[in-house]
Amino acid sequence: MSLAEAAAPASADPRDILRDVFGYEQFRGHQAAIVDHVAGGGDALVLMPTGGGKSLCYQVPAIARQRAGLGITVVVSPLIALMHDQVGALHEAGVEAAFLNSSLSFEQAQDVERRLLRGEITLLYAAPERVTTPRFLDQLDRLAQRGQLALFAIDEAHCVSQWGHDFRPEYRQLEVLHTRYPQVPRIALTATADDLTRADIVERLQLQEARQFVASFDRPNIRYRIVEKSQPAQQLLRFIEQEHEGDAGVVYCQSRKRVEETAAFLAQHGIDALPYHAGLDAELRQRNQDRFLREDGIVMVATIAFGMGIDKPDVRFVAHLDLPKNIEGYYQETGRAGRDGLPAQAWMAYGLQDVVNQRRMIDESPAGEEFKQGLRGKLDALLALAEATDCRRVRLLAYFGEHSGPCGNCDNCLAPPQVWDGTEAARMLLSTIYRVQQASGIGFGAGHLMDILRGKATEKVAQYGHDKLSTFGIGAQLSEPQLRAVLRQLVAIGAVAVDAEAYNTLKLTEGSRAVLRGERQILLRESVAQPASRKRSTGTRSGAVAAVAAGLTAEGQARYAALRAWRAEVAKAHNLPAYVIFHDATLAAIAALDPQDVGQLEGVSGIGARKLAAYGDEVIRALRAV
Ligand code: ADP
Ligand code: ZN
Repeated sequence: MSLAEAAAPASADPRDILRDVFGYEQFRGHQAAIVDHVAGGGDALVLMPTGGGKSLCYQVPAIARQRAGLGITVVVSPLIALMHDQVGALHEAGVEAAFLNSSLSFEQAQDVERRLLRGEITLLYAAPERVTTPRFLDQLDRLAQRGQLALFAIDEAHCVSQWGHDFRPEYRQLEVLHTRYPQVPRIALTATADDLTRADIVERLQLQEARQFVASFDRPNIRYRIVEKSQPAQQLLRFIEQEHEGDAGVVYCQSRKRVEETAAFLAQHGIDALPYHAGLDAELRQRNQDRFLREDGIVMVATIAFGMGIDKPDVRFVAHLDLPKNIEGYYQETGRAGRDGLPAQAWMAYGLQDVVNQRRMIDESPAGEEFKQGLRGKLDALLALAEATDCRRVRLLAYFGEHSGPCGNCDNCLAPPQVWDGTEAARMLLSTIYRVQQASGIGFGAGHLMDILRGKATEKVAQYGHDKLSTFGIGAQLSEPQLRAVLRQLVAIGAVAVDAEAYNTLKLTEGSRAVLRGERQILLRESVAQPASRKRSTGTRSGAVAAVAAGLTAEGQARYAALRAWRAEVAKAHNLPAYVIFHDATLAAIAALDPQDVGQLEGVSGIGARKLAAYGDEVIRALRAV
């Protein structure tokens, strides 16, 4: 029993629990409605973006129902590697929690089972394959007979669906929870939005009667930026050095090789970067993940194998060096930034080769034509986002069916790009492709075609007599970056195809006609020659300290630094990530307040009764030492 519980009979009111246990004043968004519904015994399906605050939606009802004498909550979670930290965070808040998974010895597992049957546990985390074993179900039977089975929480519920991106066959068996214990309420949670997956979750988990709570998918604290790719590794380095020095971040790359190279490149330049991909030795991979979670300011360079269930709240940026496959993937990956609600950035470098690669991967996949058509449609939507000259967020949210206005926090809103009409340039390029094909009977690559348009008398031009073409030199006023942008957009909209089998030669397509006829306008952003010269963003200045503690005085900064040092020691001693002890925002609030005694710490967001009792004195002592 926690200290707080010993002091007074524990309240089963969700608002009291939110304040006393978690130290938060208010529920966010749909949380209040969800918590009331579930604590009252209703079933719920919760769709909330990453960082929306899903955990509290089942943790608060679990505590409320336990305090009302209704017994334990079983939390089904697919991520064994992260259960330890989740349970650790609950312990820190004074909640009795435990996990059952294959990392425990037989004796340890038995001990958990004994505590479970004695009613000493409020939340039990378990993997789906464990939950559906006869042994575990037998224990649940015994709890149910005594009316001590309070709630089932099914996290990452999209894993039940083949349409989701993380299909886990074991999730299908979770249906048994409903058929076997129809009286026990269930809450299923996911951050995956699309209708197909949602319908599948309802069907597979028999949640037809459950109330659905669908939150807005906007993440207002994330700033979206997409830059033209020239030298990606250098661009990334500049981005990190100028805007995220000392910050934790994730860099996504498509291939293992690229992950290795990029991590090595960043490390060479003094950045704490670690690689993560499925080809790494399992132990090393786990070690890198642990370091990312536990230490401050690590940059994880990873393939998409990394990330699900990573609930580190203070990831300040997510960078993409390669184009994801679709908007769902992009949104999920970028969503790992800024879960704590503080400013964060989603940055992507994007270029012609990305478009070519993604189109080729679809073309070459063994899937049926209809399925490929679906993939192309999804890629097109992402390309439209990448090429957009208007608000990125409006487009992102529109993709998920939400209507919104210009956000003021994306690259296009903050620095509206100069737009020029590239329609004429596009027509020139298309007619050149047509004419060289006619004249020489073979296709040519982008470089040569641009030389013709710009009237450059190269050897190759002379060799093929392309200086005689009517389009020779008609685009002399266009710069090479301009022409490249035109070409990229033509490939993006499918008006030009790149033949990878034949030296990347360019070909006309069905889609070329509309552009040639002038029926389709091509609008392009003026290339920013020196993206680095743009004014620095104010929200995320250099360093983790600056981002959170920007408003502090010099003395406040010193107090903040001392608190972080103290927290690092505690986290290490408890073998938990630092944010589990206190969030950066909580430390910054304490540093600003400059409390003289423990009493003044009460009410600071993120300090519940248990943490106040456990750490109050230490915090005051750490502050006195500054
Ligand atoms: P999700 O699982 O939806 O990605 P989390 O449950 O990890 O999100 O919550 C994201 C962060 O927001 C966590 O650090 C959590 O402590 C914080 N949080 C959630 N709800 C509240 C609230 N009502 N008040 C303050 N902070 C909250
Ligand atoms: Zn915007």
